[in-house]
Amino acid sequence: MRDPRIIRSRHLHRLQRRHFIVFDILPFVGTLLALGLLLYRPIGVVEISLFFSMWLITGLGLTVGYHRLFTHRAFATGMGVSCLLVIMGSMAGRGPMLSWAAMHRRHHELSDHEGDLHSPNLHGPGALNRLRGFLHAHLTWMVEHDYPNVAHYVPDLLSQRILIAVNRYYYAWVLLGLVIPAAVGGLATASLWGAFSGFLWGGVVRMFAVEQTMSAINSVMHTVGHRRFATRDDNSRNLGVVALLAWGEGWHNNHHAFPYSAAFGLSWYEFDPGFLFIRLLQVFGLAWEVKVPTPEKISRRLLGQELADVPDFEHG
Ligand SMILES: [Zn+2]
Ligand SMILES: [Zn+2]
Repeated sequence: MRDPRIIRSRHLHRLQRRHFIVFDILPFVGTLLALGLLLYRPIGVVEISLFFSMWLITGLGLTVGYHRLFTHRAFATGMGVSCLLVIMGSMAGRGPMLSWAAMHRRHHELSDHEGDLHSPNLHGPGALNRLRGFLHAHLTWMVEHDYPNVAHYVPDLLSQRILIAVNRYYYAWVLLGLVIPAAVGGLATASLWGAFSGFLWGGVVRMFAVEQTMSAINSVMHTVGHRRFATRDDNSRNLGVVALLAWGEGWHNNHHAFPYSAAFGLSWYEFDPGFLFIRLLQVFGLAWEVKVPTPEKISRRLLGQELADVPDFEHG
């Protein structure tokens, strides 16, 4: 029987393959080119600043916008900030927001079970199968996959016409994410080379770095790290180094334990740049109804009292 929650279509598979080539393969090739060009002409403060600022802007668009706001409704904000977050996230080239949110809600529904689009834990036992699973979760799942039915997964987002209109211009926003660093690089150095170098480091290399970081949430964060909470039957984990590199996303076990929390870092020592940004929005009156679990709720789950009967995750 057909599952109304997913759509299998050759047309969509063609689009997925094209997206994979343009937004995953090409940035990798461009990064190799950029590294090769370093031998010919080293980069300076302009390229490094463009890389980090565009990395932060697009990363916050993904973790705060795509993930915490649109997928999990972890806080509320106005339409202006919502649209800005869609644009910031779109510039990362990780897919349109509506599709991303639908896929991610399915990930939480089926985490590490049949139907989870990017689980590293469904390829069976043994080192080789584990490696195959890891590669699938990190990269190859994107080549061709079932498409979650947005009418089923994100009806709340589909009811917001302005959001849909902004989401529709996804490819234009990706292009904007390449044009901005090229323009700034060109203006800052008053040279065509500066524009090209800005495009490479603030656009292409940054896109590759963000892609690898987001992919690590699917692959590494369901394979390696510390399980602080007994989440129900998934293999989500915490890893501080990934949290540092991925705007707080590395507290992935915390996140699976409390999906509706705006904070992924749940202790003072769990650094979470995404949540700091939400708090900053809140200070300026741009975010409200910011959801965080109470200390009692956290400590109950820490002690495993609510899920005492659930064994630690085991698969394959
Ligand atoms: Zn996960
Ligand atoms: Zn999530």
